[in-house]
Amino acid sequence: MNLQRDRAAWLQGPDAVCQEQPAHPVHRRRLVLLGAPGVGKGTQAALLSAAFGACHLSTGDVFRAAHHAREGTPLSPAMRDAVDRMHRGELVPDGLVLDLVRERAACLRCRAGFLLDGFPRTVAQAEALDALLTELGTALDAVISYELPEAEIVARIGGRRTCPVCKAVYHLTARPPRRAGCCDACGTELIQRPDDAPAAVHVRQSAYETNTAPLRDHYAARGVLVSVAAHGAPEEIFQRTLAALG
Ligand code: AMP
Repeated sequence: MNLQRDRAAWLQGPDAVCQEQPAHPVHRRRLVLLGAPGVGKGTQAALLSAAFGACHLSTGDVFRAAHHAREGTPLSPAMRDAVDRMHRGELVPDGLVLDLVRERAACLRCRAGFLLDGFPRTVAQAEALDALLTELGTALDAVISYELPEAEIVARIGGRRTCPVCKAVYHLTARPPRRAGCCDACGTELIQRPDDAPAAVHVRQSAYETNTAPLRDHYAARGVLVSVAAHGAPEEIFQRTLAALG
């Protein structure tokens, strides 16, 4: 399954035009997805995107797209540094991430809404997002925090495989592709993300606990936090998410 909307403006930058323009959605949602790396946010984002018609906007996907474009297009020094940090499992500096999101403000104004995944990741980023949305005359409807014990997260990450072209996410046992090693949607050979390697996973989990977990309090204080247990099959978690959103 790969029902992601066109994300040209998000993945390629402010000058790119989305070919698939959103229709007038019945239930526009502006959501942030929170959760430790490996909790299954990307899978839920794809399901939510298909259900609500809002784009799945992942800052990690922007850095991965920059990495894969490396051969043809030379990266700026800041973007090269970002990609190197990503491969080590470290966070990219707030300044660069915020520049990147501000350049893509059109996605935050999109009439189909949005699903932000992997951003914000620090309190400074959350405060900057609050300010940007206020400036754009809009606001978040909800922040979904996916919760799962760390041991289960580590098992999920070990089996995760990703399509480098269309970004579809699989798992060796929980969500295998129809043909082993190949993307169901576009046939590309699946990869294990470099930052899913064990050493990088450890760094990412600590970065989440230190920098991102405090965002739960930030959004709880604003009355938009919705916690969802992330155990079970993707479809069960999805149904739980819909129920929690009401
Ligand atoms: P993700 O796909 O969300 O797990 O992101 C992959 C990697 O990209 C992270 O481990 C970071 O190195 C970098 N990254 C993505 N989004 C952010 C962000 N909002 N702030 C800092 N670093 C980020």
